[in-house]
Amino acid sequence: MMIKQLNSSSLGRRGETKHSLCICTFCSFSFVACPSGFFKPTQRDEPCMQCPINSRTTSEGAMNCICRNGYYRTDSDPLQMPCTTVPSAPQAVISSVNETSVMLEWLPPRDSGGREDVVYNIICKSCGGGRGGCTRCGDNVQFLPRQLGLTETRVYISDLLAHTQYTFEVQAVNGVSDQSPYSPQYSSVNITTNQAAPSTVSIMHQVSRTVDSITLSWSQPDQPNGVILDYELQYYEKDQSEYNSTTIRSQTNTAVIRGLKPGSIYVFQVRARTVAGFGRYSGKLYFQTMTEEEYNTSIQEKLPLIIGSAAAGLVFLIAVVVIIIVCNRRRGFDRGDSEYTDKLQHYTSGHMSPGMKIYIDPFTYEDPNEAVREFAKEIDISCVKIEQVIGAGEFGEVCSGNLKLPGKREMFVAIKTLKSGYTEKQRRDFLSEASIMGQFDHPNVIHLEGVVTKSSPVMIVTEFMENGSLDTFLRQNDGQFTVIQLVGMLRGIASGMKYLADMNYVHRDLAARNILVNSNLVCKVSDFGLSRFLEDDTSDPTYTSALGGKIPIRWTAPEAIQYRKFTSASDVWSYGIVMWEVMSYGERPYWDMTNQDVINAIEQDYRLPPPMDCPSALHQLMLDCWQKDRNNRPKFSQIVNNLDKMIRNPNTLKAMTPLSSGVHLPLLDRSIPDFSTFSSVDEWLDAIKMGQYKENFANSNFSTFDVVSQMTMEDILRVGVTLAGHQKKILNSVQMMRAQMNQIQSVEV
Ligand code: AMP
Repeated sequence: MMIKQLNSSSLGRRGETKHSLCICTFCSFSFVACPSGFFKPTQRDEPCMQCPINSRTTSEGAMNCICRNGYYRTDSDPLQMPCTTVPSAPQAVISSVNETSVMLEWLPPRDSGGREDVVYNIICKSCGGGRGGCTRCGDNVQFLPRQLGLTETRVYISDLLAHTQYTFEVQAVNGVSDQSPYSPQYSSVNITTNQAAPSTVSIMHQVSRTVDSITLSWSQPDQPNGVILDYELQYYEKDQSEYNSTTIRSQTNTAVIRGLKPGSIYVFQVRARTVAGFGRYSGKLYFQTMTEEEYNTSIQEKLPLIIGSAAAGLVFLIAVVVIIIVCNRRRGFDRGDSEYTDKLQHYTSGHMSPGMKIYIDPFTYEDPNEAVREFAKEIDISCVKIEQVIGAGEFGEVCSGNLKLPGKREMFVAIKTLKSGYTEKQRRDFLSEASIMGQFDHPNVIHLEGVVTKSSPVMIVTEFMENGSLDTFLRQNDGQFTVIQLVGMLRGIASGMKYLADMNYVHRDLAARNILVNSNLVCKVSDFGLSRFLEDDTSDPTYTSALGGKIPIRWTAPEAIQYRKFTSASDVWSYGIVMWEVMSYGERPYWDMTNQDVINAIEQDYRLPPPMDCPSALHQLMLDCWQKDRNNRPKFSQIVNNLDKMIRNPNTLKAMTPLSSGVHLPLLDRSIPDFSTFSSVDEWLDAIKMGQYKENFANSNFSTFDVVSQMTMEDILRVGVTLAGHQKKILNSVQMMRAQMNQIQSVEV
């Protein structure tokens, strides 16, 4: 048999693929069937061709060759073209993060599968909360030029959430990928987005106007990326230049702009501010003040209405007075049916300003189910979709999932379940949390969506907090936030606590584990369940209160421990401890001291020292919260104001407590341990919670205190400490070690 080699070309799905193929000159007559390994697509008088690479025939006389296992041909691939396979993974993906956007670039796969139509798909997953689980990103993430079918080896991804971990998988696919039973091969890259200013305000509308004023209101930015401190509104007369604009600040999302000219058009723009700075201005909107004429006609038109309303108001007032007199009379005769009115009075009694709600303890209800019905919305189980277990609650598992209420957008929620086999009392206690939570409505208090009580398991559905509980979150991100960010978190907690205090709700157990963090670093007070009476450390049952409940000693004010005097002032004490936990990234208050030691130390006026890198102003605020006399402690409103001032004026946070001041703070400064108490560098690294770098230190010969105490930032980097927070922590401790060494030397001299 004679075989001639020909060069031929054929088109892949995209681009041209060159390959060579062989024809069989010996068997080129129509009446001769092609031998095995050769084919002839038609019956015509033409030579047989050898099967292209990665294909074969199963019998003689084949009209085409079939692809080997793992190799494929698309409908448009010519039969002479070799069979091709899926591409290998893209190579060397690199990412550059800029605030909440990221640019990904990569190299083409090592093996294109024999095709030239490789394109790339991006899979975006957000991985938050340290629970190891990742979820697909929502629709709002933007991909430029697009997410799927990228022909270039780069993509720009924006509108990600701030401070969130993402994993991006860059898949390589080609014309035959959809024929392979396996998922496309990919390379992945993990990134964490940074702090970002709020997104723009998208909606602004006019509430009212007069001849010289306009009242505007606007929506919150879709992505606040933190707590909004205030808004800045810029405006100018349309005929004037933008340079003559005036700006005003507003703490809320409405503003009355006064001193305007009658009948003039003004241009308005608004932007939000968080600790990360200002967001971009919204688009320009035009609103016009009334002309004098319009004003006069509107008054004339309204005159009958005003007179009518005044008359109606008078009639209504008289009717109310009559009803009150009649009811009071009836009350005197019939005390029996006053229960409901009593309950209503809970809302308005006490020292509250009129109309302000106060909290009602669900256990004051004879039938606690009634409290659940009153304060929590019943959700149909068909609206709830459980996705995964994220934690263990007091009464059962805590899951994440989706809630889709009719006519509302689907939302991500946390679902607390009541485990089966519960007693009636457990069910009541479990649901009491919902009856409490359902009474609150504040951006820093976990929001209750509703309860599922008509099917099993019984569930409490609340808003989802992507970063989980604050203490775990801080420990996992040790040293990763700026002081302003930490103060922002503390402000959120204080604001939630102020709201609870205003509602007359005393939380009793403000430990960091009862505070959750969302993806925007907003902290919300949570956990209103009975667990608030549980001891934080069951191995040390020193203090079980006289009434049987247990108390988390290290968060609790002395008067609450001694004679159960729980007030907002005792909550302020607990808040001070939470401040300390936040500033020390989740360190355990009073470390490993026993509860009894803590009680004794507090009694003798010992207080926690400032955590490492804690501004003096913040430690001073903590000390104020830990005043022995509860009347001397600040109120939550003062704490919020104080923190606001610090955020507005970051210079006040520059001053740190000098290290030597540890001397007059009687409780030992254990945040930077004395190196002389350790026998090795390894032990010292463990004590400063940097034990993971033991090997790095040893490998670089930093194994004695003498050499470690001389380390510079470059040394720390060279050793392989790449996280900024860890570098800072080690450098601080090295400096401390050097100071302690100098002290010892000077004593010895
Ligand atoms: P709890 O019963 O409130 O102490 O919740 C147990 C654990 O479930 C917490 O430590 C959190 O990790 C998690 N969890 C509870 N509520 C939420 C929520 N709303 N969003 C996210 N995680 C939550």
